[in-house]
Amino acid sequence: MAFQDYPVDTLMNITARPEIVFVRGEGSWLEDHTGRRYLDFVQGWAVNCLGHSPAVVVEALERQARKLINPSPAFYNEESIALAARLVRLSCFQRVFFANSGAEANEGAIKLARRWGRKFRSGAYEIITFDRSFHGRTIATMSASGKPGWDTLFAPQVPGFPKAILNDIESVERLIGPKTVAVMLEPVQGEAGVYPADLEFMQALRELTRERHLLLICDEVQTGVGRTGTLFAYQQYGIEPDIMTLGKGIGGGVPLAALLAREAVSVFEHGDQGGTYNGNPLMCAVGSAVIDEVSKPEFLANVRATGDYLSGRLTDLSNRLGLKGDRGRGLLRALDLGADLGARIVELARNDSLLINSPRPATLRFMSSLNVTRGEIDLMVEGVERAIGKARG
Ligand SMILES: *Cc1c(COP(=O)(O)O)cnc(C)c1O
Repeated sequence: MAFQDYPVDTLMNITARPEIVFVRGEGSWLEDHTGRRYLDFVQGWAVNCLGHSPAVVVEALERQARKLINPSPAFYNEESIALAARLVRLSCFQRVFFANSGAEANEGAIKLARRWGRKFRSGAYEIITFDRSFHGRTIATMSASGKPGWDTLFAPQVPGFPKAILNDIESVERLIGPKTVAVMLEPVQGEAGVYPADLEFMQALRELTRERHLLLICDEVQTGVGRTGTLFAYQQYGIEPDIMTLGKGIGGGVPLAALLAREAVSVFEHGDQGGTYNGNPLMCAVGSAVIDEVSKPEFLANVRATGDYLSGRLTDLSNRLGLKGDRGRGLLRALDLGADLGARIVELARNDSLLINSPRPATLRFMSSLNVTRGEIDLMVEGVERAIGKARG
């Protein structure tokens, strides 16, 4: 079918999309409506941690679809219990609530913190978040986000999210007052352009929140489930948060997210929280299949080794082309272009059958599957080098 034959105008026009319709995916490759194949370093926006249509996900979907799809969130089902038990065993948390998207999990985290504030801190509700942070696209999570321009886009915002500066502990301390209940951050700011929290900052933040009797919330929607080389990014900081959210990778491509909390913080009462699809067995069966793969020590060791390899290749490229270098953790990496060429390079690479992302005008981001091969990384780096060459003219 030709692109013009698809009735694309029936979809709301919410973003500038190229004239490509994807029809098939396998591993690191996507195929469009003309049969053209693309090397994919976007992977559903850091979602497909095992690549496109991996066997373990397909098998879990097939098996579970025949068995039970949705008995209602008002009843227990085996798959949500099994996935919650895995997450509890592998993390520092004791309680899990499942959601359908990262934003919804973060909404849950905000509600839980406010509930805890009502119970233990005489109604405190303010959650300190960070400049340039990203927590989702609902009204409350947009208000929590520090994305420039979002404070006015759908005004009025939800109040109660003062913004501190990442890696500046005094900027957090200054904002703490009688209404403060929590501090919420991404261990690596993803949408901002891949900016990790420093080790000293994260440890000081845990100290500070403990001393002041505040909750520490880690939004690991992008950093969780192996992306940074450990199952959860907080594990690299030698700290334990009180609340964590997961999304993206946990479903390996299907809509699944989770809100995790320590026992003492799990203060929802009946009626406080819910949702028609929360914990549905079809998605939770996939979540368990993904977690079983990604949590293997040899799998995570390979993510770290592959992340180092990608970092090395990007550093070489940066040195050859006189760019500003590579940053990130594990397989969440960015290349600093030093010039606002990102959108142009993404387009040139796509015309050359390579999909990459530019979250900021001078930044390229690489969000491969976690089992990407070194050969695929080499191909990607060659494609990026060609695209940068063309973009510079
Ligand atoms: C993507 C993302 C979200 C939002 O997740 P959705 O599934 O798109 O709602 C929230 N927080 C972080 C850190 C993210 O990267």
